[in-house]
Amino acid sequence: MRARQSGRAPGLPAAPRSPGKRSPGEVFAVLDPATGEVFGEAVDQRPDELDGVVRGAGEAWRHWRADPDARTAALFAAADAVEAAAADLAPLLTREQGKPLAESHHEVARTAARLRFFAESAPQSLQPQPIEDGRPVRSEIHWRSLGPVAAIVPWNFPLQLASAKFAPALAAGNTVVLKPSPHTPLATRLLGSVLSAVLPEGVLTIVTGREPLGARLAAHPGIRHVTFTGSVPTGRAVARGAADSLAHVTLELGGNDAAVLLDDVEVQKVADRLFWSAFRNCGQVCMAVKRVYAPARLYSDVVEALAQRAKATVVGAGLDPGTQLGPVNNATQLARVEDCTSRALADGARAAAGGHRLDRPGYFFAPTVLADVPADSPVVTEEQFGPVLPVLPYRDLDEALDAANDTGFGLGGSVWGTDLDRAEEAAGRLECGTAWINHHAELSLAQPFAGTKDSGVGVAGGPWGLHGNLRPFVVHRPREERPEGGR
Ligand code: NAD
Repeated sequence: MRARQSGRAPGLPAAPRSPGKRSPGEVFAVLDPATGEVFGEAVDQRPDELDGVVRGAGEAWRHWRADPDARTAALFAAADAVEAAAADLAPLLTREQGKPLAESHHEVARTAARLRFFAESAPQSLQPQPIEDGRPVRSEIHWRSLGPVAAIVPWNFPLQLASAKFAPALAAGNTVVLKPSPHTPLATRLLGSVLSAVLPEGVLTIVTGREPLGARLAAHPGIRHVTFTGSVPTGRAVARGAADSLAHVTLELGGNDAAVLLDDVEVQKVADRLFWSAFRNCGQVCMAVKRVYAPARLYSDVVEALAQRAKATVVGAGLDPGTQLGPVNNATQLARVEDCTSRALADGARAAAGGHRLDRPGYFFAPTVLADVPADSPVVTEEQFGPVLPVLPYRDLDEALDAANDTGFGLGGSVWGTDLDRAEEAAGRLECGTAWINHHAELSLAQPFAGTKDSGVGVAGGPWGLHGNLRPFVVHRPREERPEGGR
């Protein structure tokens, strides 16, 4: 079976329908967050359809795992195909997700780059490795693929996060069943259609539907690795679901990253980068800056610099030229952002910018900078995942680092200052997977990405991400076989 698609979006080529007969009612609506109105639909696949899909992925695996050269060629072709389809993929992604068109183009480019990265690097990573431990035997580690992989992703970066899962899984020799969020199924479905021209049947299958489709996929006995990105509660449910089949589990979960500004920071110099580290993609980034700790002496300057940028930001539909910040992706998320903000304001916080929904159709929220926020306010202690940034003052650095680490999350963090050695020393005290100095949330394809505490289990990115899709197989033999009775 090829990368299977279902449903139809206006203005797009019709994709093959999902397997099995279904009534016309078995679809769900896809909304444009810039208007709040329905603009497309996707097929609501039933959980029992996964049996056939996973069986097909298992059959395809037998051939896909056997020919690394063919895989490399197919993955390079996949990267080219994604790039060639950018003019169709990017506007559709913006339409269903909300982000500015330029950011959607960046997401498509990153998807292609990731395919190319793993096509290039997998052959080296898959080389057998000798174990030299002084014994008179030759031991060698070979790397074997796992089987069908379930990839389940959220709505904030539908293509980029999907490719972070399927590119290494496919390069390692596995096949993949990919389930996008029901909020953003259409660009993923189109991506599957594009890739079906270059990947063998059954190697990458897209399934769309509402819950319990994801729960059933995570728990399916034919799946050998569940790789999930999303919230902490759903991550726990996924791990429980995969427990019965003892499938490998990789979880990339939420974050509540702190940015700690040191007393030698040049506020105006870093303000743009700090602002966009928090507000890019409307704050819907797992490793966005979600709290800022500023020295008391600089506190009002930092609040003012961020508030000025928030007020100057052009908010609008992602397809409108000039838009810098789109809408929040969906009504539930908007309600959450609004609730966090109004609770902070009720607790005595001050909105230095924004603080409210925008009075227009769609899910727009004014870019918001909050000052004088109580440290126990949910906008500080939880993941707001929206265009709202609390700024908190501190008196000494130990206090700031303790506050930064006082969270169940451990995804990323950053320290900002002029003395880079001092900043690096402070960054080393952050309890997280990635610590940046004078920037935040920048990742190379070659580096590992892993959260600690509630932010995740397992590693994505680079050769480590590839190896998360493999198992070691050790071949152990004497260096030299002596004939029977030989000396
Ligand atoms: P979510 O956990 O609600 O959903 C994620 C995916 O899981 C969706 O496809 C959803 O349909 C599916 N799902 C829902 N219930 C399921 C179940 N019981 N079993 C299996 N799958 C199920 O997350 P969301 O609201 O779509 O995304 C926002 C969250 O994702 C935030 O917490 C954010 O921090 C996190 N995130 C993390 C990373 C990372 O790399 N650490 C990256 C992006 C987003």
